[in-house]
Amino acid sequence: MQSLIDHARVFPAKIADRQREFAELARGQHPQALFIACSDSRVMPSLFTGARPGEIFELRTAGNIVPPYRPQAACAVPGTLEFAVEALDVPEIVVCGHTHCGAVKGLIRPQAMETMPLVAQWLTSAGHRALDEDPDSVARHHLLTQIDHLRSYPFVARRLADGKLRLHAWFYAVDTGELLAHDPGAGEFRPL
Ligand code: ZN
Repeated sequence: MQSLIDHARVFPAKIADRQREFAELARGQHPQALFIACSDSRVMPSLFTGARPGEIFELRTAGNIVPPYRPQAACAVPGTLEFAVEALDVPEIVVCGHTHCGAVKGLIRPQAMETMPLVAQWLTSAGHRALDEDPDSVARHHLLTQIDHLRSYPFVARRLADGKLRLHAWFYAVDTGELLAHDPGAGEFRPL
């Protein structure tokens, strides 16, 4: 933790030569995309996209899960999603899954979640069961299910129909930094 504190303390001095860029951020945000990624500490969208402050709006959830639309559900995800789409008018949403995902392991082995009832409950929002034992295969199927869940939100569906929003499924390899993107036409993942 100390290294994080030390870095935070000297951060204002480190960005002193980017004063104009940071001052401009106080005027508002116009992110290029909403990134919905796993909370996993190894997955850093701003690192692999090179995004600068103000360029991506992030929603991090365990397992990059987007629960299906339920108007009365108490959950942080719908509100964050609605704000990004309705207030910030993001033109793109990227859902980013990854290799070696703990949540995906939990889908494959639900019994491992017995001591974590809140995690187990959250994983039911994933909307599917693991169909096989291959983690990457399950993770990619899981990722596409979350894309389907996104379409169930009325404000998302409306903008998709109007051509004002595009959805992307990306899959990140934590050990190589490589990214795959789902090609809906071909029905497969290909290098980004
Ligand atoms: Zn994960």
